[in-house]
Amino acid sequence: MRIDILTVLPEMLEGPISCSILKRARDKGLAEIVVHNLREYTTNKHRKVDDYPFGGEAGMVMQIEPVDRCIEALKAERSYDEVIYTSPDGETFNQPMANAMSLLDNIIILCGHYKGVDYRIREHLITREISIGDYVLTGGEIPAVAIADAVVRLIPGVIGDEQSALSDSFQDNLLAPPVYTRPAEYKGWKVPDVLLSGHNARIEEWRHEQALERTRRLRPDLLD
Ligand code: SAM
Repeated sequence: MRIDILTVLPEMLEGPISCSILKRARDKGLAEIVVHNLREYTTNKHRKVDDYPFGGEAGMVMQIEPVDRCIEALKAERSYDEVIYTSPDGETFNQPMANAMSLLDNIIILCGHYKGVDYRIREHLITREISIGDYVLTGGEIPAVAIADAVVRLIPGVIGDEQSALSDSFQDNLLAPPVYTRPAEYKGWKVPDVLLSGHNARIEEWRHEQALERTRRLRPDLLD
């Protein structure tokens, strides 16, 4: 899978894509994540990519030209399944969306900044708009990393133990059961006996009961 991220702040993405799962996926050749600086695509001699909004509102707006030129250059190289714009008013990102996106070949993610992007970008160049929650961040870089991470970790071979991603919260509409590790007792706080029993069937049953109980208590909406 290839993810092209378009941004005015490439340095914000350098750290997150160079460590942990995203790095591992790139090192294994399972995901290619390419960051594009939109300032490289402007014809403005000062490399400006934003301008004042028509109508006189406060704040700046990202211009269409650098975004269009960058998307055009990418599309000349390969076809894309989705051109995503990260936006607080988009559809809220969730696990089923990440599952489906992990099966795609090529996606573009456009990170907005300032007041957002010239609306013609959304009308003519974008195929999907995704929000990571009902709050406003300064830019789309953190949402782009959140989407890339959630998607890439599901690609077979990225996480060592493939069952691990499948037993995470929201798969099967359940929250994950509690997990524990050594020592079995700390300050008198004990790990549940069943996990030390070595009895796999009973452990599985306990995990399922715990997942159901936590989901009922914390996220009953998932069971509807
Ligand atoms: N004026 C916009 C509005 O009210 O919807 C908010 C602009 S925000 C300051 C700048 C950029 O950050 C947005 O264009 C978007 O790309 C990104 N962004 C902010 N919050 C986001 C969220 N919850 N989900 C996805 N992207 C977000």
